[in-house]
Amino acid sequence: MAKFKRVLIKLSGEALAGLKGEGFDFSTAVKVSKQIKKLIEQGIEVSIVIGGGNFWRGRNSESMDRTKADQIGMLATVMNSLYMAEICRLQGLKSIVQTPFQIGTITEQFNKDKALSHMKNNTVVFFAGGTGHPFFSTDTSAVLRGCEIEADILLFAKNIDGVYDSDPKVNNEAKKFTKLSFKDILDKQLKVIDGTAASLCMEQNIPILIFKLDTEDGIIKAAYGENIGTLITN
Ligand code: UDP
Repeated sequence: MAKFKRVLIKLSGEALAGLKGEGFDFSTAVKVSKQIKKLIEQGIEVSIVIGGGNFWRGRNSESMDRTKADQIGMLATVMNSLYMAEICRLQGLKSIVQTPFQIGTITEQFNKDKALSHMKNNTVVFFAGGTGHPFFSTDTSAVLRGCEIEADILLFAKNIDGVYDSDPKVNNEAKKFTKLSFKDILDKQLKVIDGTAASLCMEQNIPILIFKLDTEDGIIKAAYGENIGTLITN
């Protein structure tokens, strides 16, 4: 089976919350960390971006100033990464959290060379804090970091097993796509990743696999090139 050499995994905050829908779900986090351990043991370089939707989404913050609301969201992503990095450590893995802004001694500041050197040294690198700027999402920061570290593929683990032509929760006739192009995502305005992220992927020609986090060995299968969801390419 083909395997990728360097992957970036994007976990949505909601997926990390498991069935609870908010906060952390320990058993989900442990399942994820066990899979990451297997990838590292197989010599795959692993980096991770985690969303913050299990705590806070800036765009849902009603009357609050959007910049401030987004800053809270970015800090939520830092909490998620610190949590997951510790769960990885419990599995005996080395992990580090990098952020685009300084948080004293808690994280390391994002640096491509350092990130690559950590990954080559079998350390899982978490890119937390999004892009460091409001009005962006962690989908976009995942694509941005993926481009910067020259990941072979972006593995987006979500609460849904791929991209559908309509909402499968509402329409039981909804059809799942196994393959799509970034142009399809943009033209059809499919909501699965945001437009900024899709445009950057298209421009940089970096594939994304969208799959369900709660799939037996889903992360491992995805890193070995199995299309277990929807593969989006140019
Ligand atoms: N965010 C931001 N800039 C970024 C990335 C994230 O301002 O570059 C903020 C934004 O408020 C967002 C929140 O962080 O709503 C959490 O990220 P996201 O909604 O992407 O999380 P997910 O839906 O993947 O859990």
